[in-house]
Amino acid sequence: MQALTNRLKLVNRKPMTFVEKLYLWNILKGMAITFRHIFKRKATINYPEQKRTFSPVFRGLQVLNRDEEGKERCTACGLCAVACPAEAITMEAAERSSNETHLYREEKFAARFEINMLRCIFCGLCEEACPKNAIYLSQTFAPSNYSRKGFIYKKDDLLIPHPKENPDAYAKALGERKKITN
Ligand code: SF4
Ligand code: SF4
Repeated sequence: MQALTNRLKLVNRKPMTFVEKLYLWNILKGMAITFRHIFKRKATINYPEQKRTFSPVFRGLQVLNRDEEGKERCTACGLCAVACPAEAITMEAAERSSNETHLYREEKFAARFEINMLRCIFCGLCEEACPKNAIYLSQTFAPSNYSRKGFIYKKDDLLIPHPKENPDAYAKALGERKKITN
């Protein structure tokens, strides 16, 4: 028989001996392997009671950022959507009215902003492309969900808490990140 690779292994089709038919030797071998693993360091942890610490360069769930006064930074320029290799970002821009200056930093803002987490590969290119420091990848991850719709994150799911109305939640969401002042 001609093999395509050198990994070909012929199966031994010899009739089994009486000892082999008892499977005792194989059971003992299996138990020895199990016994050896009792003394090894466990590869698993008791999640969610225990959590692993992420690497400092871990890139997780996106956060839409605000400035120190709580104004949304995003100006709906679309650069993050263009940079996204997975085409996971969708948005709609709107013009800021004169009575909305306390809500949005720029004259244009994202009336709708969505990220499809089933498409996202957490590459971080959206963060790099953003000229307004309006989006960053945080040190948390998208929780599991039973429906596909649950993975379409809307603007309200992504927006960081208001720094003045909810300073504790804002600080927690910011995590290890330094304050962005520009
Ligand atoms: S992290 Fe990458 S894949 Fe995910 S939305 Fe940003 S650019 Fe797209
Ligand atoms: S997050 Fe940044 S790059 Fe994306 S639309 Fe908003 S301002 Fe533009």
